Amino acid sequence: MPDEGGICPNCGLPQDLCVCETIAQEEARITVNIERRKWGRVYTVVEGFDKNIDLGDLASKLKSKLACGGAAKHGHIELQGDHRGTIKDVLSKMGFPEEQIVIDWSQSSSRRR
Ligand SMILES: [Zn+2]
Repeated sequence: MPDEGGICPNCGLPQDLCVCETIAQEEARITVNIERRKWGRVYTVVEGFDKNIDLGDLASKLKSKLACGGAAKHGHIELQGDHRGTIKDVLSKMGFPEEQIVIDWSQSSSRRR
């Protein structure tokens, strides 16, 4: 516990004005990107989860909800296919705040457009 009236060693502000915790929460952003790989396969990559989250368990839940293949790897989750349209809804129903889920729509999953 920090000393009352002390200065936060991280942000240099008095403890009662310290913004470190807020920043940590705001930075805990879940990002969703797609990656196109060999043979035109598209994967949805979900990252930014807190270390305390059991990614293996989360990956298997996502796979069953989205009816796709996938795996948890090195701190992120990969899902086969482009699930950007549905994943925010699925994650928010699992308890992740919607405003913390950032979807990257800049990539196209197909060459049609
Ligand atoms: Zn601070």
